[in-house]
Amino acid sequence: MSQSQPQPSDKPYSLLLKGGRVIDPKNGIDGTRDVAIAGDTIAAVAPDIDPARAARVVDVSGHIVTPGILDMHAHVYHTRAPEGEPEGLSVLADAHSFRSGATTMVDTGTAGARHLRHFKHTVIDRAKTRIFAYVNIVDQGMIGDFEQDPRNFDAELAASTVLAYPDICVGVKAAHYWTHKPWDELHTPWACVDQAVKAGELCGKPVMVDFWPRPERTYPDLLLKKMRPGDIHTHVFAQQFPIIDAQGRVYDYLFKARERGIVFDLGHGAASFWFRNAAPAIAQGFAPDSISTDLHIRNMNGSVIDMQTTMSKILNLGVSLPEVIRMSTINPASEIGHPELGHLSAGACADVAVFTLREGQFGFVDCGRAKIIGDKKLECALTVRAGQIVFDPGGLSMPHWTDAPAEYWRLP
Ligand SMILES: [Zn+2]
Repeated sequence: MSQSQPQPSDKPYSLLLKGGRVIDPKNGIDGTRDVAIAGDTIAAVAPDIDPARAARVVDVSGHIVTPGILDMHAHVYHTRAPEGEPEGLSVLADAHSFRSGATTMVDTGTAGARHLRHFKHTVIDRAKTRIFAYVNIVDQGMIGDFEQDPRNFDAELAASTVLAYPDICVGVKAAHYWTHKPWDELHTPWACVDQAVKAGELCGKPVMVDFWPRPERTYPDLLLKKMRPGDIHTHVFAQQFPIIDAQGRVYDYLFKARERGIVFDLGHGAASFWFRNAAPAIAQGFAPDSISTDLHIRNMNGSVIDMQTTMSKILNLGVSLPEVIRMSTINPASEIGHPELGHLSAGACADVAVFTLREGQFGFVDCGRAKIIGDKKLECALTVRAGQIVFDPGGLSMPHWTDAPAEYWRLP
């Protein structure tokens, strides 16, 4: 069967997404708009753009149109298994991103300084998903016993690696330092956080902190003394954090930390999201700044599933849809120092997500073997990455078969 070649078009727009409810928090838009794309760039967002000006028109009425979603905590360095391990923890980015409307994923510390170059060449450069990385303060990354040995926390090496790959690296990750050895000269309570913050200072980037409180290193001290404004605390609603007091109220130090510029990220994960913390906190006005999955092979079929399910959980805990979109677009974009992403301004890269907002009865689970029953669920219907349709499971962009040309056809 012959394939027709794409015809050059004299029309100004290559793609027009017509008639959807556009939610673009950065630009204060929540209403019916058309989104016009020229090549890999957003050309215009406006009511009633003339379809004759576009080579291709997709009717997205009845759907939610948002900037491409950013998942700022995931694990996608799938080409490396730590020594002695049969496999790593990571998922294949393109297999999980677009089906949730995500066009950008941030790998949070799967690679340390010693493997960043391998990560770049074997994964980041080959993926269609845009991938950034936090460099683990542990030079060998994760996961293994080496994460408990402070001799592997190399602030200079981590910082110089971040600076060597400025297009990829967005900060430093402090992680998985839960040693149960008695504290000694080497194993000090704050060894991991202190070295990560030192690296952050050396490279001028934020630190993302994964943390396990102990009596010698308390959660309020982390938030109020150790972290710097702009640093990100991930796994905010994990069981181990004192979020809610005995009377059911959100601890005051959380609001104080937010006032001093500490950023709170969801980082769902296999063990880090409890409705018993999240529901009362959100009800009392303490919602996360950003929504993220912490997606890896041990939660992709378990408590997390994907980004759109994680967003739907926050939606059903009472956060409005525009705020959920803000927490999944412009907020994470600014947290990672990439404010050019996460919005649909003219001139921005044409990363766009189209969702169906389902209504009905839906169960959602957390990491503590508990559930909520919600009445709304986001379901990705179309994803555009740099102007190309990369996910269209229901054929939104295709003709009905009775109207399709006789031969196989290609997109203009
Ligand atoms: Zn993680």
